[in-house]
Amino acid sequence: MKIFPPQVWRNKETMYRLIATKCTSCGNVMFPARNVCNKCGSTKVTKVKLSGKGTLVSYTVNYQSIPGMEKVQPSYIGLIKLDEGIEIVAPLTDVDENLRDGARVEATIRRIRADSTNGLIEYGVKFRLVENEPNR
Ligand SMILES: [Zn+2]
Repeated sequence: MKIFPPQVWRNKETMYRLIATKCTSCGNVMFPARNVCNKCGSTKVTKVKLSGKGTLVSYTVNYQSIPGMEKVQPSYIGLIKLDEGIEIVAPLTDVDENLRDGARVEATIRRIRADSTNGLIEYGVKFRLVENEPNR
């Protein structure tokens, strides 16, 4: 078994909804969510939902695969600057070689991998190009 349901369950909030934490002392936004501000050390943080929209800073194409992900080949991995100012690394979906740095992207829920031994499917956040929105 490669997918562990309890682990997916524990992380469901941040895996599917892009929840970050915001420091109420200095305004720093952190993703993945943290309980302590990594800028000022304050423990006064609140959860905020990210818009899921951002700009592709750069990307890479991966021609290797790990077990369970053979169907997603090649896979595109993007460095994305979210509109909230945070940079994250995340998989891209529905893209090809015509991808351009600076393109607008948005988060979507997609199948990540399947476990062939017990039929479980893991879902997660991937980013796709935003149609009809000019590049920044
Ligand atoms: Zn802070």
